[in-house]
Amino acid sequence: MTTYDHWIAGASVSGESDRFADVYDPAVGAPKSQVRLATAGDVDAAVQAAAAAYETWGESSVTARSRIMFDFRQLLVEHEDELAAIISSEHGKTLDDAKGEVVRGREVVEFAAGIPQLLKGEFSDQVSGGVDSHTFRQAIGVVAGITPFNFPIMVPLWMHPVAIACGNTFILKPSERDPGASDLVARLYQQAGLPDGVFNVVHGDKVAVDAILEHPGIAAVSFVGSTPIAKYVHEGASRTGKRVQALGGAKNHAVVMPDADLDFAADHIVAAGYGSAGQRCMAISAVVAVGPAADTLVDKIRERSTGLKVSVGTDPDAEMGPVVTAASRDRIVDYIGQGEDAGAKVVVDGRDLVVEGHEEGFFVGPTLLDQVTTDMSVYTDEIFGPVLTVLRVPTLDAAIELINSNPYGNGTAVFTSSGEVARTFQRKVHVGMIGINVPVPVPMAFHSFGGWKDSLFGDHHIHGPEGVRFYTQAKVVTTRWPHVSEDSLAQLNFPTAH
Ligand code: NAD
Repeated sequence: MTTYDHWIAGASVSGESDRFADVYDPAVGAPKSQVRLATAGDVDAAVQAAAAAYETWGESSVTARSRIMFDFRQLLVEHEDELAAIISSEHGKTLDDAKGEVVRGREVVEFAAGIPQLLKGEFSDQVSGGVDSHTFRQAIGVVAGITPFNFPIMVPLWMHPVAIACGNTFILKPSERDPGASDLVARLYQQAGLPDGVFNVVHGDKVAVDAILEHPGIAAVSFVGSTPIAKYVHEGASRTGKRVQALGGAKNHAVVMPDADLDFAADHIVAAGYGSAGQRCMAISAVVAVGPAADTLVDKIRERSTGLKVSVGTDPDAEMGPVVTAASRDRIVDYIGQGEDAGAKVVVDGRDLVVEGHEEGFFVGPTLLDQVTTDMSVYTDEIFGPVLTVLRVPTLDAAIELINSNPYGNGTAVFTSSGEVARTFQRKVHVGMIGINVPVPVPMAFHSFGGWKDSLFGDHHIHGPEGVRFYTQAKVVTTRWPHVSEDSLAQLNFPTAH
């Protein structure tokens, strides 16, 4: 069985811990490898390596950093199949879906390759007589990223290419459930010519996370994961004086207006609810049917849900794979039961799904619950599985109120043929990412990604322009090259322009 070790200062390092976690193949339902769980000492070793590398990396030219990003991007292209295979075997998602996340992550590398343009400062000529002013941004030092299981390559890629291109050095603590892709990414960076110590991987659990939060040598922490841990990381990192952005969980609503094309809406809702077995922070989990079309909509979603092919991720016909762990499967099945007990109507039931030849795999089939109300746990909690819930409201205003009363604010969508409805919706909802007839509105790499309310703690969204701001700090320089005369003698009053 493979053991994933840490990657520190450009080499595989076993470190000082003798604690391990099993890494499962969710389609088989058995461990395929194990991962070492770091101690605080291992985290410290990574910080020392990253701090030493920062001495030279922080002084490197923007063009040199950009070229490495171009070469790294090419290696991600060449290793796309290999990365997708690793992801699918540890996460369970289909190979095509895994390739999709490699591509979306790679787009952040493409954005980061433009760092010379992104870091151009601002200059004001003649702010006062003979005085100019310019602003520029500098790296902040050693930064860390803590990431979830559901996008084992894309979410880390939201962070490290931008951080590194800005001149920082990076420590990644990936999810211990699917650590394999990070191992390969570290080797590809090295092959691309990134100096040792600029990108490090420390595998681990809460012990490693706590050590990152406490370490005085780390200047900033980016976190993506569930809301309780995002809160914890935001508080912990803030307490120790770090810059922090912590992206949390979600409950994403898709509003379907009576004027929408219901076939189109049903198709896209099924894809957005069941893709990756519902384990996406931007998955649709609550369908809000407005007005009299609800029965027809539920019918159309039912038809499409029952036709989906659920199989192992490597099956070329599979549209949906297993969920990540046995505990996840049990939790999802339990939630469906809670919904049923609370009065929801189980229209499609995925609880007893068995995939032939993979009886031990962690499978749950697509599930559709109708007549759901806001007090049911299937609505209040993030289930993170292939479960769509349908709530019915009379008007657009009621739909918006429902969304705004929910503590999460990651993504939402409206299906409509009315521009007026779309405009009202996008202006009134308290949500960070909005789709108009687009159910999974994940921003491109050159925009920034982030939710509102309990879906993000901190004030910077991730990647795109906000990523550059998060990983740099600004300086303003006021310059005078004086021609010394009577007029230029210093005065004690506060300087004003003249
Ligand atoms: P998680 O919160 O369990 O784990 C995320 C990270 O935190 C992992 O690296 C894990 O090792 C660490 N961690 C877990 N428990 C911890 C603890 N008690 N103390 C310190 N660290 C701890 O999340 P997950 O189950 O891996 O991922 C799914 C969650 O991530 C969902 O809630 C999903 O919505 C969210 N997510 C959000 C976004 C977003 O952009 N907002 C994107 C992807 C996933």
